[in-house]
Amino acid sequence: MAFEGLADRLQNTFQKIKGKGKVTEADVKEMTREVRLALLEADVNFKVVKDFIKRIKERAVGQEVMQSLTPGQQVIKVVKEELTDLMGGEQSKIAVANRPPTVIMMVGLQGAGKTTTTGKLANHLRKQHNRNPLLVAADVYRPAAINQLETLGNQLDMPVFSKGTEANPVDIANEAIQQAKDNHNDYVIIDTAGRLHVDEHLMDELQQIRQNVQPNETFLVVDAMTGQDAVNVAETFNEQLDVTGVVLTKLDGDTRGGAALSIKAVTDKPIKFAGMGEKLDQLEPFYPDRMAQRILG
Ligand code: GDP
Repeated sequence: MAFEGLADRLQNTFQKIKGKGKVTEADVKEMTREVRLALLEADVNFKVVKDFIKRIKERAVGQEVMQSLTPGQQVIKVVKEELTDLMGGEQSKIAVANRPPTVIMMVGLQGAGKTTTTGKLANHLRKQHNRNPLLVAADVYRPAAINQLETLGNQLDMPVFSKGTEANPVDIANEAIQQAKDNHNDYVIIDTAGRLHVDEHLMDELQQIRQNVQPNETFLVVDAMTGQDAVNVAETFNEQLDVTGVVLTKLDGDTRGGAALSIKAVTDKPIKFAGMGEKLDQLEPFYPDRMAQRILG
């Protein structure tokens, strides 16, 4: 389950401080030491942990007095607020086009969950927002990826634009957008090619699509279970493509939480959605406050 390991550790730590009527500087020191270790063990980026601990120390020692809470509870409240901030604070919504269609480009490494997430996102837009998306198969290197998207389109009963493996991805994207305009699809979600590792050719291709199509959103799909690797991938993609948001997949299997807790601080790009399972309805908008709540109990 998401964050289970981290949640267990932190909840243990806070159990000790919860009921305290007086929290001394030594208590805060002990608490921050344990939080620091728990975050490092959860594979949170080293620098992110350092800054985080500094902030909670400052706030917990000179904390504001609230009569409804014990000092112990106030310290926990500070940590919860800082964890929420660390994951982006407010929930970040999709940026929509002034005139439809809104174009979303999905990028990421092979296996991260890009194609599945393309289907999930389309399903979410239809179910929650009554939208009518067009899916676009722009991974021209892997026939299997095109088939996979077509299968998802069938399952969802949604149109999929594809031109096989011979066409150029920029042309595919442009033609798809034209078709969406003609057929009144208000969203276009482009599933681009992925590789097993970041490579220059792939980045060139994605940059070309991005420059030509000027998507409203460029969503980077990363696998939460890969921890700091996901953070490094996010940094590279963001430098090259200036992504607008992150989708964290496989959060259902991530007991540690290192990627979820580091990506916003490292890339300054919000996590917009989280994948919580393989099924098409298992994509959720990412709410930092609910995630912090889940971690701290
Ligand atoms: P792509 O190569 O990036 O397009 O990756 P796929 O969409 O083919 O997904 C790779 C694998 O990850 C598939 O087996 C998916 O079912 C699985 N997957 C994707 N998202 C999630 C998720 O949120 N949770 C879980 N448990 N599995 C996921």
